[in-house]
Amino acid sequence: MPVPAPGLRSVEVLSDWLDSTPAAEALNALIGTNPAMFLDREPDLAAQVLDWCRHWRRIPRSERRRRAQPLVPDLEARHATLWAQQARLLLSSDEHLAAAEPRLCRLVAALADGHLAEDTEIDALLTAPARTRQELQRDAYGDCLAQRKATVEARWDALNRRARRHTSREHLADAYDNEHLIICGTCHIIYLKAGPNTLRQQDCPNCASTIVDWTDRARLVPLARRLNGIRQRLGEMSQELR
Ligand SMILES: [Zn+2]
Repeated sequence: MPVPAPGLRSVEVLSDWLDSTPAAEALNALIGTNPAMFLDREPDLAAQVLDWCRHWRRIPRSERRRRAQPLVPDLEARHATLWAQQARLLLSSDEHLAAAEPRLCRLVAALADGHLAEDTEIDALLTAPARTRQELQRDAYGDCLAQRKATVEARWDALNRRARRHTSREHLADAYDNEHLIICGTCHIIYLKAGPNTLRQQDCPNCASTIVDWTDRARLVPLARRLNGIRQRLGEMSQELR
């Protein structure tokens, strides 16, 4: 059996061709890592996809999109079904939700934004969590907390009585954090901004998401709010099916 073109395994390419990100994610998930299995399991849909992409190299983008349109409603419906399956599995994974590992946070963020998670992320829910977020946070901090305490005390000791009336140890600690900390926008693990091991300008080593400045932390979305969004969407989907 012919194997779908390599471009069909890129969500970005598919989104452009289908003019629909949900349809692209659904097709990518259905093809997965085993295109032959897709052909066996979904012969009708696979035949339509193959027919659509048979001459994809030779037809202009606008025509490619036009020919894809009959596929889009079915694929978008499959996206909704797959998303609901993944969301239900996530919400029943109590151990993982309690551990709140960075990869789990990334999965939650993807589903909360209406995307499908990767197969490997979903498979990870079927085994016990390896480490908790708190353990990873302790590793990322290193001796930062001890240094913070010592620095705050030294700055406090250096203030005269008049200056102490206009500040507090908490204020000095906040200033220290603003100077020294950065935070992952997805798993919220806190890292050091300064020093030889800084991760400034890099992605989070625990979940591969973008790291932001500590002073921007107010705009981060808490894990609980993302989970509530997923529950709400699942509830709305159930209502629509009644
Ligand atoms: Zn992270």
